[in-house]
Amino acid sequence: MLNIILFGPPGSGKGTQSEKLIAKYGLKHLSTGDLLRHEIATQTPLGIEAKAIMEKGLLVPDEVVIGMISSALDENLGVNGFLFDGFPRTEAQSEALDKLLELKNTEIAIVLALEVGEAELISRIQHRSLTSGRDDDANVEIIKARIVEYHKKTSVVEDYYKKFNKVKNIKGEGSVDEIFDALCKEIDNHLS
Ligand code: AMP
Repeated sequence: MLNIILFGPPGSGKGTQSEKLIAKYGLKHLSTGDLLRHEIATQTPLGIEAKAIMEKGLLVPDEVVIGMISSALDENLGVNGFLFDGFPRTEAQSEALDKLLELKNTEIAIVLALEVGEAELISRIQHRSLTSGRDDDANVEIIKARIVEYHKKTSVVEDYYKKFNKVKNIKGEGSVDEIFDALCKEIDNHLS
């Protein structure tokens, strides 16, 4: 299996690049943000709980997202691999993911970390809010809270995977195709 984590702050292009990567490498896309938004849209108890947290730009509890990922792994046996987007976002989530994959006799192959400056992140998310329909994209205070949460809780995920020599840093500024080519180069290097 080829299991990839696409890592980076909010607005770094994970969603856009994920779509292109899953098409090229035949992977199953697992975005915890998308899964949570689906729970909200279908008004499940989990969705109702998560909505209040997401509206503040904070992270939902680890056990909620770990549970969602665990079910998604079970529901997708036999795929070529997974592309994790927006997960893991804490060290506890990273440890849980490693254990879940180990139970399936597989592991994370590579962590692709997109690097984008803060002003660019804010401007991209504001631009995305015109079409995303996401309340958390439309308010600059919430965008900033999401970036603060990233520095406080999520950036450590990169250090966690660095210990296993799995992180490749990629410049996330430039055209979508340039960034996609840089990501593919790292994946192809890993595969060869
Ligand atoms: P995203 O679509 O990845 O930008 O996520 C949108 C929001 O969903 C985040 O601001 C969090 O509130 C929540 N969320 C998504 N993924 C996670 C995760 N792995 N852990 C905790 N909260 C998450």
